[in-house]
Amino acid sequence: MVSGPSGSGKSSLIAALLGRVDIDYSVSATTRLPRPGEINGRHYNFISLKNFREMIESDALLEWAEYNNHLYGTPEAPIVAATESGRSVLLEIELQGAKQVRKRRSDAVMIFIAPPSMDVLEGRLRSRGDTNDDDVIDRLEIAEAEMASAPEVFDHIVVNDEWEKAVDQLTSLITERL
Ligand code: 5GP
Repeated sequence: MVSGPSGSGKSSLIAALLGRVDIDYSVSATTRLPRPGEINGRHYNFISLKNFREMIESDALLEWAEYNNHLYGTPEAPIVAATESGRSVLLEIELQGAKQVRKRRSDAVMIFIAPPSMDVLEGRLRSRGDTNDDDVIDRLEIAEAEMASAPEVFDHIVVNDEWEKAVDQLTSLITERL
């Protein structure tokens, strides 16, 4: 399970990791709209609020959380199927969801990706071009809270200051447990 503030570079690190390691990727459900280039079924399952509520009611989610006015959740069935057949699954989720996974899956390895500093994080969010100013401010506030509670929730913290080093660290933490 990999978590970390929006803008910490965790999605790019995970993309690099998936190119190196044979692991399934958990495609989350979300009520937010796709960003340019995002593919339904690959990056997320983009669903309506009504469908999301139905998934909650039918207990189809391992965890879910509200993040920045949208709902995000991890469908449980693919994870159970994969782990029962001996495969590992990578989850990329935010802090509230991470806490739920920590309680429900004692086999989870919990990794937090931290930016080198809050200034670097802000710079990355602002230069991304797909996030408006209000969104950047909200995401920075959430990031502060996530950074503060990371040490008590996660088993490992990877600081994304040098790209190659961070990819190597993440890869070895995960391959150790496959
Ligand atoms: P974004 O909108 O930038 O794709 O994602 C916002 C945040 O939601 C990120 O921190 C991302 O890791 C998190 N997220 C993505 N999928 C899930 C999920 O299934 N559950 C939870 N709790 N968070 C998720």
